[in-house]
Amino acid sequence: MEKIHNFNAGPCLLPDEVYQSSAQAILNFNNSGVSILSISHRSEEFINILEETRKMSLELLGLQNKGYSALFLQGGASMEFLRVPFNLLTTKAGYINTGNWSLKAIEQAKIFGQAKILASSEDKNFSYIPDNFEIPERLDYVHFTSNNTIHGTQFQKIPQTDNVLVCDMSSDIYSRVFNCDKIDLIYAGVQKNIGAAGLSLVVLREEILGNTNRVIPAMMDYQEHLNKNSLYHTANVFGVYTCFLNLKWLKKQGGVEAIEKLNNKKAALLYETIDCLDFVHGTAEEKNRSKMNATFYFEKPEMNKIFDELCLEANIVNIKGHRTVGGYRASLYNALSLESVKVLADVLNQMKLIV
Ligand code: PLP
Repeated sequence: MEKIHNFNAGPCLLPDEVYQSSAQAILNFNNSGVSILSISHRSEEFINILEETRKMSLELLGLQNKGYSALFLQGGASMEFLRVPFNLLTTKAGYINTGNWSLKAIEQAKIFGQAKILASSEDKNFSYIPDNFEIPERLDYVHFTSNNTIHGTQFQKIPQTDNVLVCDMSSDIYSRVFNCDKIDLIYAGVQKNIGAAGLSLVVLREEILGNTNRVIPAMMDYQEHLNKNSLYHTANVFGVYTCFLNLKWLKKQGGVEAIEKLNNKKAALLYETIDCLDFVHGTAEEKNRSKMNATFYFEKPEMNKIFDELCLEANIVNIKGHRTVGGYRASLYNALSLESVKVLADVLNQMKLIV
């Protein structure tokens, strides 16, 4: 089969060896004659995998031995929009509003208390990251979304605050070196740079818990999940296994430092190509451009058809922009090769000869 260049925003491309080992495990897990879909979540084999995955997830963020724990929970990042305020919001939290996902998080927080918008880029359809704003003291926590998957913007620096800091890192976790130890709780839907959809990874410092007086149902309670070592109930065994394989792959590549170098090359090639052509433009402000989700549009709408046809010929798939932004979005997650970005850059350059 010809190589397909899959720029999907999520669930995203995973490395071939993750697909192969996952498929093998479904057929015959570790030569046991049993499928991974049919082993017990309390079996020794699975507990070893879960523990190793929790350990790698911290190590790759540079958070091992720094008082953090990792949980693999069900429900995806949207469940954490709810779990975070359930566990941390007593009176008032601060949110930086940089896109649709931040907005969804804010809506959930409002169920539990005040969600004060500290800064917003909504005035320009979230095409930039606000800087230059004050963060008051004595908030229950401050929440930001490090990478805005839909709009293609990314925080370059971690917001400075003495409050508890929470980050939705769903779409750029493990893509770059970030001072994660400045953040108290990180969460991410695993379907971008971690594994197969359906889980969220939550990395947190236990000491931030226990300050609200509310009764927290067990499934929503981070403390309960910590007490049970991320096995409060039947785990998503296969989902965790895909995370295990993918994080192992990432370690083999040289970890986040090494993958960041490749990600920088991919983003530079694409943005330089866009900037050299006068008929296509980046959607986000240059200094806030995301290295994971590059959003762009053609000056004349009739060019879309030409681009679509060229993409089809070049086996480029899943590159349409989100409906709220329009245009196109090339997602450049860890497993996407530089070769795929070269194919896309060639297609854009070919358009020069046509338009
Ligand atoms: N936050 C961000 C930044 C996302 O990109 C997404 C999904 O793409 C979500 C949250 C929601 O994740 P989930 O679908 O796992 O609930």
